[in-house]
Amino acid sequence: MSDSLTAQKRSWNMSRIKGKDTKIEISVRKYLFAKGFRFRKNDKRYPGKPDVVLPKYKTVIFVNGCFWHRHSGCKDATIPKTRTDFWLEKLNRNVANDEKNISLLTDDGWSVIVLWECELEKNFEDTMEETIKRIMLNV
Ligand SMILES: [Zn+2]
Repeated sequence: MSDSLTAQKRSWNMSRIKGKDTKIEISVRKYLFAKGFRFRKNDKRYPGKPDVVLPKYKTVIFVNGCFWHRHSGCKDATIPKTRTDFWLEKLNRNVANDEKNISLLTDDGWSVIVLWECELEKNFEDTMEETIKRIMLNV
């Protein structure tokens, strides 16, 4: 798999593994902050530690890497050709966890927005404008 990953993606994956903020997460937060939103980040009190928590809008945002979170139909949601079973199990577990966390949050009255890395990379401004519209629905 690593052969098919760009250096950028690999560093993104590594930063994700270490649990550090990715560049794209930081961009999302900077954008929201510039638009006047105030939030908590990676708050452990919430299922799945959402990347952005907006208590005022009862909204959480996950910024998902397409590989790790299996973005449906996305070219980046590849299955590694070596140790395939290991990866399938690991990645399927990620998806199951995501689904569980989202339903826990939804049951608790939170709106959940999932942003995908590839969409943000392709069209950051539009994706964020759309995101803000969705946040504002919860005023
Ligand atoms: Zn994607």
